[in-house]
Amino acid sequence: MAKRDYYDVLGVSRGASEDEIKKAYRQLARELHPDVNPSDDAEEKFKEINEAYSVLSDPERRAQYDQFGHAAFDNAGMGGPGGGFGGFGGFDDLGDIFADMFFGGGFGGRQSNRPRKGADLRYDLTIDFEEAAFGVETTIELPRTEICDHCHGNRAEPGTPITTCPDCNGTGEVRTVQQTPFGRFASTRTCSRCEGEGKTFETPCKVCQGTGTVRKTRRINVNIPAGIDEGQIVRLSGQGEAGHRGGPPGDLLIVIQIRPHELFRREGNNVVCEIPITFVQAALGDEIEVPTLDGKVTMRIPEGTQSGKIMRLRGKGIQDVRGFSRGDQLVHIRVVTPVKLSSKQKELLRQFAKEGGGSTPDEAKGFFERMKDALR
Ligand SMILES: [Zn+2]
Ligand SMILES: [Zn+2]
Repeated sequence: MAKRDYYDVLGVSRGASEDEIKKAYRQLARELHPDVNPSDDAEEKFKEINEAYSVLSDPERRAQYDQFGHAAFDNAGMGGPGGGFGGFGGFDDLGDIFADMFFGGGFGGRQSNRPRKGADLRYDLTIDFEEAAFGVETTIELPRTEICDHCHGNRAEPGTPITTCPDCNGTGEVRTVQQTPFGRFASTRTCSRCEGEGKTFETPCKVCQGTGTVRKTRRINVNIPAGIDEGQIVRLSGQGEAGHRGGPPGDLLIVIQIRPHELFRREGNNVVCEIPITFVQAALGDEIEVPTLDGKVTMRIPEGTQSGKIMRLRGKGIQDVRGFSRGDQLVHIRVVTPVKLSSKQKELLRQFAKEGGGSTPDEAKGFFERMKDALR
């Protein structure tokens, strides 16, 4: 069978932008994912759109495809498009797409009688700035699918007979042979009577109505490590959805969001804050108190500090999430020009100016000279 044009597969024009391609792919991936689409050719089509997307989402491979068509990848072998999971453009895209869908579970192909790992679950957890800095232990409530306790996933009411499926003799698959003008074609389908289980029963489990799984809301303890940053993921293996047909459960992915702090902002492992000082403190120097994650510390402002100066408090930042080191706190100094001066204060400043205090500083003189030259 001739391979379909990748642009046709995704239903986009040859001039489509990266965004248009991504959008089209997402739409199709949702429709055709074998776990949501029961039609027999869904898996084939799903592979086809993944293959098309893996090429068209990569500018270099797209260019090759535009020039040579499918021949561009004829020698790609197993590593080429369609060679499996490795052929995808990037996990980030898929992560987005399946975050609210299946994420992990469905990629093993649709051999429905085989054990399959349960789907991964995503949970968005918002924590405080300090909790991110120092780590936190918390409890979340999570609805998920678990194996039914009553029937242990067997689907039959305990004590009632489970028998080998007569249609497939327990294999879960039915073989059909078709006679066509081109010859005999044999194909294998999942047995519809036992849905690939190979077993049938008369009395479904009363607790799970014969599905083998139940929905439960669980309280789960979560340890968030110190130094975690916005968007990072804590993975709890085996805490996701129940597996299928004896497969292991999926994982729980906790995606971290951090509430903004009143005073602090984060740059990597450094904490940044802005401290306003008066122009008198800036001119004469002073000792000021600065809030840090560990409480207040005293910091010396040297004489003649300019607005915008950045001072560093070593080791007052955030612990590296891998535990290697701790960042610094960067204090941005902002000199505040006074408003609403009393007449006495104004008089004192005028005297200050007469003493030469109001004259242009040397650096600024140079600047004004250069500006004059530039404007001439
Ligand atoms: Zn049950
Ligand atoms: Zn059967």
